[in-house]
Amino acid sequence: MKNTKIKVADLLKETSKEDSMQFEEVMITLSWLREPGIKWDIHLTSFNQDTIEAKLTNITCDRDQSCEKCNKEFIKSVRCDYYETTFTNNPDAFEDEPEDEIFPIDDNLNIDLGESLRQAIEIQQPITILCYDCINQEPSDDDDNEQEEYFESSGNITFH
Ligand SMILES: [Zn+2]
Repeated sequence: MKNTKIKVADLLKETSKEDSMQFEEVMITLSWLREPGIKWDIHLTSFNQDTIEAKLTNITCDRDQSCEKCNKEFIKSVRCDYYETTFTNNPDAFEDEPEDEIFPIDDNLNIDLGESLRQAIEIQQPITILCYDCINQEPSDDDDNEQEEYFESSGNITFH
C-alpha cells in the first residue's frame, strides 16, 4: 500500500536509532499534484523516546501550474534536494519552535509525511510563476522594470 505514513514504534524504543527508506509514485491529496505522484528518500533518527528527526531528500514530482504572465496551464517538474523536519508526541518540548516545522506522532506511533512533503515542494515555488516560454522571454521583463522605475521617479518629482 502506498501512502505517506511510516510506523516509528521501533525507532522510539531507543535514542539515535536510524532508518532509511525510499518512496516512489505516492499520490497525496494535493489538487496540483500530477500522476504518478511524489518520489523521495527519507532518513529517520530517533532523538529521544518521543521525538524523531526526519531528513527528506531527493523529493521530486510534477505539478500543475498556471503562468502568471500568459495564464497558460503547464506542468512543472519540481525538485527539493533536502528538507528536514521533526516529529514528536511531546509538542510541549518544542514550544519555542515554529509550529509548521514540528509534526505529530500519532497514538499508533505513526508519522504522516504528507504535510512535510507539501511544504518541501511549496518552498521551491518561485515568487513569480512563469511558464517555460515566458521564462525564455525574460529580457522583456527588464523593459517593464525600467518603466516602473520611471513612474516611481516621476512620482517623486510631483511630490516635491
Ligand atoms: Zn507564460
